[in-house]
Amino acid sequence: MMYEDYMIPISIEPYRIISRDEDDTRQLLVNKEPTKCPFCHHKIAPKYLGMFDREICGEKIKTQQIQVICICPLDDCRELFIANYLVKEDDDVAKEVYIELQSVSPYIPSIRKFETVIQKFSPEFVDIYNQSYKAEQLQLSSISGMGYRKALEFLIKDYLIKQVKVQNVDEIKKMLIGKCIDQYIQNDNIKQIAKRAIWLGNDETHYERRWIDKDINDLKQLIDITIYWITMTEKTKEILQSMPNGK
Ligand SMILES: [Zn+2]
Repeated sequence: MMYEDYMIPISIEPYRIISRDEDDTRQLLVNKEPTKCPFCHHKIAPKYLGMFDREICGEKIKTQQIQVICICPLDDCRELFIANYLVKEDDDVAKEVYIELQSVSPYIPSIRKFETVIQKFSPEFVDIYNQSYKAEQLQLSSISGMGYRKALEFLIKDYLIKQVKVQNVDEIKKMLIGKCIDQYIQNDNIKQIAKRAIWLGNDETHYERRWIDKDINDLKQLIDITIYWITMTEKTKEILQSMPNGK
């Protein structure tokens, strides 16, 4: 039998999906509904269009899955997605089927937006950061850590080259990032933060981890502080240029 044979409209009350088959009076009781659209990432209450059920054969056990077709109700999105439920208990006597939300597919990772000043200085940083962020959301943690490390190097070097106007661009491009920080970053607090970000970033590429009590979130936090520093420095410059003297 084709899956299409199972696809019939369903109606829904809060936390209750009416059963798929007109002759089947059982009710599907869900533990929760999708609350976020996997495409636009906004909070939503999805509309339900239909559903399939199918058996998944594992090595030892068979499980019953129910896939509910949903649509994002927001006018500028209206994307279709699937809420995947697993049947926990099928109570013939009570005519109720308890199903549990497992996942929503497809999962489209979100991207992080950066201040214009950061985009202007290092579009490569924004691109590499967001590739890493996507990898992180897809649980590819080994790759995302290395990516954040690379993104940070682009951010610091691009900023030093474009804004601090380092004389020898080729030299800075080839220079080890630690040396760049030591030599060209004036603000001591930021120098200390940027150094630590690089230490943690290097851990993401080493065979053996040195900072065992730190993880990718610490690295991201240090990157954020570096971003705040650049943003703050540049915004301060803009204001001082536009208001050089008192009136
Ligand atoms: Zn949406």
